[in-house]
Amino acid sequence: MTTANVHPLYDTYNRAALRFERGEGVWLITEDGERYLDFAAGIAVNALGHSHPHLVKTLQDQAAKLWHLSNVYEVPGQERLGQRLVDNTFADKVFFTNSGAEALECAIKTARRYHFVNGQPERYRVVTFEGAFHGRTLATIAATGQAKYLEGFGPKVDGFDQVPFGDEAALRAAITPETAAVLLEPVQGEGGLRSFSTEFLRLIRQICDENGLLLILDEVQTGVGRTGKFYAHEWAGVTPDLMATAKGIGGGFPMGACLATAEAAKGMVAGVHGTTYGGNPLAMAVGEAVLDVMLADGFFDHVNEMASQFRQGMASIIDRYPDVFTEVRGKGLMIGLKCAVPNGDVITGLRAEKMLSVGAGDNVVRLLPPLTVTADDMREALNRIEKVAAKLSKAPA
Ligand SMILES: *Cc1c(COP(=O)(O)O)cnc(C)c1O
Repeated sequence: MTTANVHPLYDTYNRAALRFERGEGVWLITEDGERYLDFAAGIAVNALGHSHPHLVKTLQDQAAKLWHLSNVYEVPGQERLGQRLVDNTFADKVFFTNSGAEALECAIKTARRYHFVNGQPERYRVVTFEGAFHGRTLATIAATGQAKYLEGFGPKVDGFDQVPFGDEAALRAAITPETAAVLLEPVQGEGGLRSFSTEFLRLIRQICDENGLLLILDEVQTGVGRTGKFYAHEWAGVTPDLMATAKGIGGGFPMGACLATAEAAKGMVAGVHGTTYGGNPLAMAVGEAVLDVMLADGFFDHVNEMASQFRQGMASIIDRYPDVFTEVRGKGLMIGLKCAVPNGDVITGLRAEKMLSVGAGDNVVRLLPPLTVTADDMREALNRIEKVAAKLSKAPA
């Protein structure tokens, strides 16, 4: 048996041939010393940019003390960070995980247990929306509901019913005596930066209340300041019963959490759920450090200022190159550029200009800069986007 030409890693990623060695704020630096403007931020993970001094110091200090504790013991860092999340959100209770998909799994299990302890174990189904992305575990690909993620992985996990985006009649029709919850992303990330309107979010909350359903928000990408509020649902003034958060919450350290009201979490009693690593002291220390920075006065104002600066600059690029870009989508610094050319050409073009972006569905390019991005960084990003637009445009400039 020969394995000489087999790459040691799974072939599940189409990786760009870029090898980064270190990062400084909004910049990533390759092994060859080339500097890239990072408007991908590890897909909305490096919320405070790379090598943020407060995060680095916190991680180093904690690393010298204690890395891991089992959840059979009390973990003071979990209590502190959990309390801060409770103090700053709708939630009463928090369960810490290592990833977004695990936070969603916890939310789905919590919703099912809620109806179980209410004496309605038949209520286990969750309604989701087309264009969703909720993760890569067996349950979350079923919730995501897209063939490209489900194919070849055996029977789809039962209990997920999908309706078209923003379709009230379909949502109402999908609700049966077996329905437990409605699950959605306030702004769809992978799906192409489609936002649920404030009116529709309020309507969903009302439909959930009328039918005794729990509202689960997937704020894995929209959360932790990304849209210019701590969590995106605050824009609509709608609160969920359960929420999954991850990505930015660890500023680059793997962590996630499921947040719940006390009522929604009442079925999650001792022994029904658990995790080995979730809530470990390293993650908790870094999570607290992220909140130290983000919950300081003026942080979200800065995010919103940078977002409006970008939108103004981008509007003028769209005016001049309507055959390349047609629309800016998303909210805050969760930005989608709807393209009139293949989005892959824009991503490749930006990479040639040493700027990183991410693809999304519906022919959209996603820009997810660190929330600490400055006005100068924004100008630089707009310059690079304009250069790419000029190259891809058929019209004479
Ligand atoms: C990234 C993402 C997930 C999955 O998070 P993982 O940490 O990759 O498991 C789930 N939902 C949304 C909206 C996401 O953006």
